[in-house]
Amino acid sequence: MSTKFTDFNFATELQDGLGAMGFQQPTPIQQQAIPIILQERDLIACAQTGTGKTAAFLLPVMHKIISSHSETLNTLIIVPTRELAIQIDEAIQGFGYFTPVSAIAIYGGSDGMAFEQEKKALTQGANIIIATPGRLIAHLNMGYVNFSSIKHLILDEADRMLDMGFSDALNKIISHLPNERQTLFFSATMPPKIRELAKRILKNPEQINIAVSKPAAGVTQGAYVVYNEQKLPLLKTVLREKNFKSMIVFASTKDKVKQLERELKHARFNIAAIHSDLEQEQRNEALRNFKNRSLQIVVATDVLSRGIDIDSIGMVINYDVPRDAEDYVHRVGRTARAEQTGVAITFINPEDQRNFGRIEELIESTIEKLPIPAELGAAPAYEPHKKFFKPAGGKKHHGKPRHSKPFKKKQ
Ligand code: ADP
Ligand code: MG
Repeated sequence: MSTKFTDFNFATELQDGLGAMGFQQPTPIQQQAIPIILQERDLIACAQTGTGKTAAFLLPVMHKIISSHSETLNTLIIVPTRELAIQIDEAIQGFGYFTPVSAIAIYGGSDGMAFEQEKKALTQGANIIIATPGRLIAHLNMGYVNFSSIKHLILDEADRMLDMGFSDALNKIISHLPNERQTLFFSATMPPKIRELAKRILKNPEQINIAVSKPAAGVTQGAYVVYNEQKLPLLKTVLREKNFKSMIVFASTKDKVKQLERELKHARFNIAAIHSDLEQEQRNEALRNFKNRSLQIVVATDVLSRGIDIDSIGMVINYDVPRDAEDYVHRVGRTARAEQTGVAITFINPEDQRNFGRIEELIESTIEKLPIPAELGAAPAYEPHKKFFKPAGGKKHHGKPRHSKPFKKKQ
């Protein structure tokens, strides 16, 4: 006896939208969260990336907007990034195609026209506002925002928002909201600071926790143990060999992303970079092209690692090991969304071996170490429990080489 969407008795127009989107069976987080939200309870829900959290909060809230014939501002959704705001707005357009529900994404970074439009939507009442904290505060500071009709506050990617330092901004926004409201927290992880925040702003919340800190089952994971100098030639080889229609390369810093962009463009790959120094329009364009498959490879910092849903990315490459083990799961979660299959590959340099060991502990499995191509020379041994000492002068490499060929430094 499995739950179907029709069991929730959603408004017909909403059910039609679901059908048009090809949604048939609710995912586990949707099965658990939707009834609680329909019952007006506060909720704190934790489920890993790609499990369908967006529809879990949008559908019941949209149902309530439709059945109450609300014509005013009803729901505020706060998200950490512009991309996620746009994506949720698009999901509302999809589910709400046959409904009168109106929404606007408020994310800043754009021109004065956009600001005026946002102001209009804020004052004349779109039903749902999806906003990044900074931009919303800019509007709040102008004094014309009236949140008195808000019934639902939703925080999506709550953990990410705290990581990004939005804590004060969130407090400020919440101070503008009516006390009588339903508050919903969605997060991929539930670190203690999220629990503290939840305790302060949720009222007697229900809790759902279906986070398993493991990448989705369809992901094939592998890793290359390498020296730093081997990373770039290896990246080119792997991209050329795998040649998936869509591939994402994550690097640890903006500067590295820019450097990889130059190198890969020079080597004639079909690539674009996404990082926070770009104009919003450039970021949107790259994402659009990536989604419609005219762009094959995106190189990005963490901006893209959470929340953003792009169908069937064939491969994710971690050019650097993510510092935070949870981030590994998020990045790898970019592939194999909703039960497809994907490949996730990580490059591990000697400095990162310990961190990678921690990731393997978190996900409770040992990730296969792949042999690097012979022409790249010998690779370091994988010894995650050994303390790393930076080799003096960078000439000698510690550890036993796994290949008999001497390691040649590539320029
Ligand atoms: P999360 O926010 O948990 O990371 P999303 O809400 O972005 O996950 O959903 C991931 C993908 O799965 C999206 O492409 C979404 O359209 C799809 N999806 C979600 N729920 C369902 C469902 N019940 N049936 C089919 N596809 C779904
Ligand atoms: Mg999400």
